Amino acid sequence: SKYTKDDIIRIVSEEDVKFIRLQFVDILGTLKNVAITDEQLERALNDEILIDGSSIEGFARMEESDMYLRPDLDTFEIFPWRPHQGKVARMICDIYHLDGKPFQGDPRYVLKKVISEAADMGYNFNMGPEFEFFLFHMDENGEPTTITHDNAGYFDLGPIDLGENVRRDIVLTLEEMGFDIQTSHHEVAPGQHEIDFKYSDALTSADNIVTFKLVVKVIARKHGLHATFMPKPIEGVSGSGMHSNLLMYDRQGNNIFYDPDDELQLSKEAYYFIGGLLRHAKALTAVTNPTVNSYKRLVSGFEAPVRIGWSTINASPFIRVPSVRKKDPIIELRSPDPSCNPYLAIAAMLKAGLDGIKRKIDPPKMMEKKELKSALHTLDVESVIPSSLKEALIELSKDEVIKEALGDVYRRYTKAKSMEWDEYISVVHPWEVKKYIARY
Ligand code: GLN
Ligand code: MG
Ligand code: MG
Ligand code: MG
Repeated sequence: SKYTKDDIIRIVSEEDVKFIRLQFVDILGTLKNVAITDEQLERALNDEILIDGSSIEGFARMEESDMYLRPDLDTFEIFPWRPHQGKVARMICDIYHLDGKPFQGDPRYVLKKVISEAADMGYNFNMGPEFEFFLFHMDENGEPTTITHDNAGYFDLGPIDLGENVRRDIVLTLEEMGFDIQTSHHEVAPGQHEIDFKYSDALTSADNIVTFKLVVKVIARKHGLHATFMPKPIEGVSGSGMHSNLLMYDRQGNNIFYDPDDELQLSKEAYYFIGGLLRHAKALTAVTNPTVNSYKRLVSGFEAPVRIGWSTINASPFIRVPSVRKKDPIIELRSPDPSCNPYLAIAAMLKAGLDGIKRKIDPPKMMEKKELKSALHTLDVESVIPSSLKEALIELSKDEVIKEALGDVYRRYTKAKSMEWDEYISVVHPWEVKKYIARY
């Protein structure tokens, strides 16, 4: 690993770090932290910092409320936007019971478990996200609005794109924190942006995703804007996806999805992996698209996937395999959105793909362009992505493989999500009033 305890102690003193934030996520993927001062560092490094888990979403029953935070030393990072004297740093933590056993309700534990299952098969899974998000104005009370700060479109340049400075600041900050930014550009909708960073091993990637979201929000705020990862904040324009680029390496570092002799240069494992993702697509959706709002993005006409299929063409399939990427093929899963808990979402994707490899699941034939689009007005639910959170949760409840991936979290997750659905469904929406009040 990158750092020892002594390294951390040395860096904290050399860099004049005053506060260390011990971070972890709840089951919804929300970043939490307790801050300690440098005086407490030794205790933190010896796993002596306790948290009360009972107050954390989906975490614990009362009697098991005290838990330890065990910092992952390799995630040590200084926040470049905080003061330069008395700096602020963070470490991402695993959560342990008092008896020293890992807490199975910790999303990071869920991901680690599936990663080790892949490792047992000789695989090192990598993932790289493409992040879309909106920048909105805030009102006089500092509350976010849905008023965009620009009217630019896809790949536009300044001065129309006021987000350029914010994006630049975000990218520079992330680079200071060790991110390898691939591209950043204005997206299709007004106020919508995209930033993509390089893939890494699954755990690092999930850690990077929660860090990324924090940085985007903090930097946007510095520019007086609110950044949102809500999947579909405005009706009638594109929503925000978190396309996930998936790669699989063997122990020697060869991409096992590659086969030079195949028409698409894809190996058997690659086809099985796709087969697994498609077989578990519906249950997967409950994890990769976890909010009521997620399903308002997954409709035709906005470059978001609607049907469960795969393709090499750029017509918003559920899975796209960019044609011929030489020795390093990727599988792009386009359904996830940035409201997902990255630890759970990556665990579920990997589990689905591994199941494909284990059971040699051949994918169906590629979808044609017109098939990919023709989801509206159909009751042929077989080939369509679940149309609501409720439907996705029902599919999840029937999928033993994805449930196994979530382990202990499954019960807590579906409980929280069912409550969210019940709350939503009891609301009378303005659309309904407009549609029905005169007619009936
Ligand atoms: N915004 C689209 C989505 O919801 C993707 C647009 C694109 O990157 N081509 O997935
Ligand atoms: Mg993209
Ligand atoms: Mg995009
Ligand atoms: Mg993409």
